[in-house]
Amino acid sequence: MSQYIGRFAPSPTGPIHIGNLFSALIVWVRAKQHNGRAYIRLEDVDRHRSDDHFLDETLKTLRRFGLEFSAWEDDKHMRQSTRGVFYEEALSRISLQTEIFACVCSRKDIRMAGAAPQLGDALQKSYPGTCRHRQLPHDKQAAIRLWCTKHEIEVIDRVWGQKNTNLIDNFVAPVLKRKGGDWGYHIAVVVDDIAQSITEVVRGVDLLESATLHNYLFQLLGAVPPVYAHHPVLVDCHGERLAKRKGSLSVEDMLSHGQTLGQILRRLARAIFAEEPKRIEGLKMIAEADVLQYIVSHMTVRHLNRECIVWESVE
Ligand SMILES: [Zn+2]
Repeated sequence: MSQYIGRFAPSPTGPIHIGNLFSALIVWVRAKQHNGRAYIRLEDVDRHRSDDHFLDETLKTLRRFGLEFSAWEDDKHMRQSTRGVFYEEALSRISLQTEIFACVCSRKDIRMAGAAPQLGDALQKSYPGTCRHRQLPHDKQAAIRLWCTKHEIEVIDRVWGQKNTNLIDNFVAPVLKRKGGDWGYHIAVVVDDIAQSITEVVRGVDLLESATLHNYLFQLLGAVPPVYAHHPVLVDCHGERLAKRKGSLSVEDMLSHGQTLGQILRRLARAIFAEEPKRIEGLKMIAEADVLQYIVSHMTVRHLNRECIVWESVE
């Protein structure tokens, strides 16, 4: 069996949140359990919002919690902002095998053409194909979209099982390259997972549907897709993802407000084992320094089989 390789892929667009730390912890634990390694990859394709200061801070915070990640090449971490040439090459390989097209529609255009007002991911499913046959130039004024057709795609997820989904049920014409030239999330993540030979993708369950598209892109690029382990996401009592909420629950804030590293780690452990009283009891018996090892020894994919965990309710 090949060596286990995982990755944690934060966007350096703000201070690290407890939701990101939870994800980093699970990625790190899975790698430890398999005697493998995990990389950190910076999802900084959004050049206007990314900041090196947040990157340094994120790495520093993870290290304080004992979460060490492997460097990629030349002792450095992979950064999406430096990988445009590889994404471009992948885009041309994809274009040889299936249909991609330039699209100048705004969000508003797509909403107007669709039947119902939709936002975000739902908007992605309602693209009516407006620009598909317009043969617009592939320049910075246009987004590059992938035209999806019926394709049965298999996704193997250690937490959620094996699923066969039809690509067209979830995606119509996802954006591979954005207007202005920034790369889309889906192509970047797949090209990088191939480059780093990732064997298991561990990330939030909010990306579960995307795995169908990702496996299709792996196929188009002639690569074997990884297996997945989509874990629950931490939410507030209104159900909003903590990682997306700004201005609160940054890990550094929690530390500066008097919570210790050990207390935060213990609470993350209680979030993981919330549905298993025996483990919660066991957790009470061990010293702070042993919490990380306790999680490594006892966490299984069964503990991750939930969509969300309300952080406030974890005491
Ligand atoms: Zn269009």
